Amino acid sequence: MSAKHGETTLRLLLIEDDVVDRMAIERFVRQERLAYEIVGASSTDEAKKLLANETFDVVLADYHLGDGTGLEVLELGTGLPIIVITGAGDEETAVRVLRAGAYDYLVKDTARRYLKMLTVTIDNARRRHASEMEARMLSQALTSINDSIYVTDLEGCFTTVNDSFSKTYGYIESDILGVHHEILWAEGVTQELSPGSPSEMPLEGEKGECLHRRRDGSVLPVLISRSPILDGTHRRRGVVTAVRDITERKDWEQALRASEERYALAAAGSNDGLWDWDLNRGTIYFSTRWKSILGYAEEEIGDQAESWFELVHPEDLELLKAQLDAHLQGMTPDFENEHRVRTRSDEFRWVQTRGVAVRDEDGTAYRLAGSQRDVTDRKNTQELLTHAALHDVLTGLPNRALFMDRLDNAVERFRRRPDNHFGVIYLDLDRFKVINDSLGHSAGDKLLRSISRRLKSCLRVGDTVARLGGDEFAILLTDIKDLAEVDRVADRIDQELDRPFNIHGHEFFTAASQGIALSSTGYERPEDLLRDADTAMYRAKSEGRSRRVVFDPAMHDRAMTRLHLENDLRRAVDRQEFMVYYQPLVGVQNGRLEGFEALVRWRHPEKGVLLPGEFLDVAQETGLSTRIGWWVLSEASRRMKTWQQRFEWASELSVSVNLDAKQLSSTELIERVESELAASGLEARCLQLEITEATIIENPKLTHSILSRLHRQGIRLHIDDFGTGYSSLSQLHRYPVDFLKIDRSFIGRLSSDEKDQEIVRTIILLAHNMHLEVMAEGVETPEQLSLLGLLGCEYAQGFLFAKPLSPGAVEDLLELGPVPFGKFVTSEA
Ligand code: C2E
Ligand code: CA
Ligand code: CA
Repeated sequence: MSAKHGETTLRLLLIEDDVVDRMAIERFVRQERLAYEIVGASSTDEAKKLLANETFDVVLADYHLGDGTGLEVLELGTGLPIIVITGAGDEETAVRVLRAGAYDYLVKDTARRYLKMLTVTIDNARRRHASEMEARMLSQALTSINDSIYVTDLEGCFTTVNDSFSKTYGYIESDILGVHHEILWAEGVTQELSPGSPSEMPLEGEKGECLHRRRDGSVLPVLISRSPILDGTHRRRGVVTAVRDITERKDWEQALRASEERYALAAAGSNDGLWDWDLNRGTIYFSTRWKSILGYAEEEIGDQAESWFELVHPEDLELLKAQLDAHLQGMTPDFENEHRVRTRSDEFRWVQTRGVAVRDEDGTAYRLAGSQRDVTDRKNTQELLTHAALHDVLTGLPNRALFMDRLDNAVERFRRRPDNHFGVIYLDLDRFKVINDSLGHSAGDKLLRSISRRLKSCLRVGDTVARLGGDEFAILLTDIKDLAEVDRVADRIDQELDRPFNIHGHEFFTAASQGIALSSTGYERPEDLLRDADTAMYRAKSEGRSRRVVFDPAMHDRAMTRLHLENDLRRAVDRQEFMVYYQPLVGVQNGRLEGFEALVRWRHPEKGVLLPGEFLDVAQETGLSTRIGWWVLSEASRRMKTWQQRFEWASELSVSVNLDAKQLSSTELIERVESELAASGLEARCLQLEITEATIIENPKLTHSILSRLHRQGIRLHIDDFGTGYSSLSQLHRYPVDFLKIDRSFIGRLSSDEKDQEIVRTIILLAHNMHLEVMAEGVETPEQLSLLGLLGCEYAQGFLFAKPLSPGAVEDLLELGPVPFGKFVTSEA
């Protein structure tokens, strides 16, 4: 039977050209049941091939081979134990063979004793080879290892050191062998381990940190682990010691300790609490100070992360955890968060927590440590400042900035959930200016504060009332179901403001105009909503006092049109897009042309010719009207003068120019009029100025003095649109005016309405009593004209004679000479 493969099976290469000898060995192995696997080779060539391709434990080679000698196999340097078989009496060969590196030799014999010897020799060779291999691997390991390793004998003297030892300590192996290992130990230092004696060393070995000294005297911190070496009979033979240089770790530890101490000092100095989270174990250390900030005693807070998070205000917890996470993931260089924590007395304090993670080589955090500081006072101041920035000082109500922010939120909520309706009420007090001007600012302030309180009382929780400035307030109503709900709040506001206010012992009544905008219009931006509420409020104001208007998109369109008009108008002034048309003024009795009224027109580049009613309001509000007015004055005077020069019979004709309130109160007025007269050469008596009844009443004193000055220069003055204001003729008689123009609303109803006839008759009578001449505006029919003639009215103006005419059309008319108005011009040309 062949030996089984196994751990102990020995693979033997038998190089033998003598078949009989080879078979003898094989037979013996079989009979003895030796665990050998024999591979045979009959020549050195064959053997070489096998050795190159297969592994063997032992090589058995006959010295005398057909194609060479067993020496050749030895010379291959296989590293395998080789036993050479020589012939009897060939001792010389034996010596040569051993010198060449053979393990052993045997003299060939046929006796069984020889075969027994052979197996013993093979065994020895194998065992020796194995231990040699082991020693070689060990010494290789010892050389390559970074740790210093040394072996000492029972006396404590070095018997072996590895390369690393020599490198680390600076001793050459030959110098140190036989020297006592105490040479390594730094004196005068308390060591965790002493040099120790092998007999006292525990069998399982020992470990510890010590300080060693190198050959050059420098000291190095080391971690030692050593154990006794036992021989086969368990007796101590020496000690093997492994030394690890821990300089680097020590440096690091020291740095860490230093920084920790620094940190602890800094922390103690600044009153911070400390925490240190062992992420692997999941435990947190909280310093006493940390706990005392929150009013807790040492044992009242556990060492789990949860003990911390449980105290954090629920609203702040999410952000805290997110920031912790981000830092642990390495997304932030350090961690910092401010949050509220519940103290032992169950109130919340603001703390600032900072920390930084300690990471291993992979960047994975295993520790997170930091501080906690009480920042409640700072937060409170901050809150006060924030409050100041977002509130009105006088009333304490939210200001515009805060209101816009809340409105923005409401718009956002509505976008997410379209049933989250909301509304805005824009509120403007109707008579605030009067009170403020007449009673002084302190009374005004008091009133505003009282109003604020009343407005607040009208709201539901969650609603916001803000003071936007002056006497304007805005109210945001959230979570409303329908318009009726907004109306109810608006009603309540009206009722509240209806009750009198008592200020400095006086009773005041006030009311407000309210403009309402609703989320249902579908707003994207909060400022649009407020703008529309504002637009609606203006609308309400223009409709009269204490009205309420809900914004509708048409209003917005109107507002937009107006805005465009405003822009166009500015441009028009620069580009001279205005023209003056002239409407004839006619003597009622004789149909004679007396003069013209100058009426402005705007030749709009896209909209065509616009009438004053379409742009004068806007011009007035934007302050452009005076510039337009001066231009009309200048244009009309020059034109009139040209006509007078061209048509001799026209030298007595006059031109009538309208002045608005702004022009009248302008300090430039007198100067302007004088310089235009001078520049054009028009005589003062040929210039008439029309001022509406309303304008005169607005500023009675100033108007009186100005009109007097103009009148003294010979300029004739008209009271325009008479009958539309609330003045009475007795009020007006003090003014130096020459004409009264009866408003065309009376003339239009003249033929049908008896009562209007009576009014017109009275006006004419009174005017004549005051030595004023009368002109009727808007005369459209011959009946109106004949009635006016009967009533004694001197002059008339109206489509019956002519519409306002372009300068060219006026010239055509003048060309005809002084013919009475019989042929009527009926269209503006
Ligand atoms: P106003 O001063 O009362 O001027 C007379 C207005 O009545 C003119 O309107 C004229 O076209 C119109 N009118 C004349 N006859 C008739 C008629 O038979 N029937 C009707 N229905 N209307 C007639 P216009 O030109 O549209 O001017 C409107 C207002 O604009 C003027 O009313 C005046 O107050 C103002 N205005 C016009 N030009 C100027 C200007 O240069 N400066 C200033 N401050 N206001 C001006
Ligand atoms: Ca007029
Ligand atoms: Ca008029």
